[in-house]
Amino acid sequence: MPALMTLSARAQALQPSLTLAISAKARELRSQGRDICSLSAGEPDFDTPAFIREAATQALEAGHTRYGPVAGEPDLREAIATKLSDENGVPTRGDQVLVTNGGKQALYNLFQVLLDPGDEVLLPAPYWLSYPEMAHLAGASVRCLPTDASTGFRFGPEQLEAAITSASRLLVLNSPSNPTGMVLGRSELEAIAEVLRRHPAVSVVCDEIYEMLLSPGHAHHSLAAVAPDLAERIFIVNGFAKGWAMTGWRVGWLAGARHVVAAASALQSQSTSNVCSFAQFGALAAVSGSRDCVREMAAEFSVRRSRLSDGLMAIEGLELLPPQGAFYAFPDVSAWGLDSMTLCRRLLEEVGLAVVPGAAFGDDRCIRLSCAASPATIDDGLDRLRRFGEGL
Ligand code: GLU
Repeated sequence: MPALMTLSARAQALQPSLTLAISAKARELRSQGRDICSLSAGEPDFDTPAFIREAATQALEAGHTRYGPVAGEPDLREAIATKLSDENGVPTRGDQVLVTNGGKQALYNLFQVLLDPGDEVLLPAPYWLSYPEMAHLAGASVRCLPTDASTGFRFGPEQLEAAITSASRLLVLNSPSNPTGMVLGRSELEAIAEVLRRHPAVSVVCDEIYEMLLSPGHAHHSLAAVAPDLAERIFIVNGFAKGWAMTGWRVGWLAGARHVVAAASALQSQSTSNVCSFAQFGALAAVSGSRDCVREMAAEFSVRRSRLSDGLMAIEGLELLPPQGAFYAFPDVSAWGLDSMTLCRRLLEEVGLAVVPGAAFGDDRCIRLSCAASPATIDDGLDRLRRFGEGL
């Protein structure tokens, strides 16, 4: 027998993405004929709007099938810069934008070019499960800022101040948040900025991928617009997946200080090169076009968010702080007496419901359910969860 090849320490320490693994598992079980309801990965069930598909098709037919500039098509970089300047109030130029393979690559590249071994990433918890892995892949360690439902999943400026050490290098802000749906208000961002002014070595990455998905009464604010004096050390990550229903297209962006974006582009030139050329033309149509389609989908997600929240709050033993944005609910299920991994495994096996354990997001008391599914699927999922709880 040939000896097994030894994996790098990095690879051995790596946890594969559980959100993707669970949705793949749900698909596999379904293809085997099992009756599965999946409220796992956050993926809009809408088709990408027709005008975007048409723009990509035309680009494909027009021969945009070759290598393009690593950092992205110049028109797309400009259009994203215009969006940031006009919609988010963050004055940005095209050369401050890197087009990436989804928001994920923007985050990955940024972590790689900003962090060294020994550096610390400040991460409010619960957090999206890929942030810690990306920090570790860059050799950095993670210092969590724990939050829970009792404070609305928010950390205060004192908590941030107390968490910062001489090794702190990057604060991760994700608003609206995956998995909690928490949305940071303007005054909270101002308070965070006030702390950051005292710590010039700490940069911030604002993952704004859910910016379009807000419950009524909530607004999205960019930290860089609230604190323009800190703009040199604020990085914005965003993409087309959630707002425009383009998950499979893999087009996102990183925006921020020119030299950091240039370093991330150099990294990309040695790893993946340009994002799929014709997909970028679809993205160009999306970002330059009317936001009506985005608003319509966002309105539908608001209805579904309420449907999921109301349904969860009606289930005995579950505690939920209703999400203010994104498309997840993160109820506390600890009253059922099972750790979140066991609960999710049993939900899948016993009632065919695929949801994601809170442990992967840094809170073992909770589970994450996505409302990026049809109302009938949400109702079905709620029904399975209720039945499971009643059978305990
Ligand atoms: N970000 C989405 C989620 O958390 C998509 C899956 C992933 O990339 O993790 O479900």
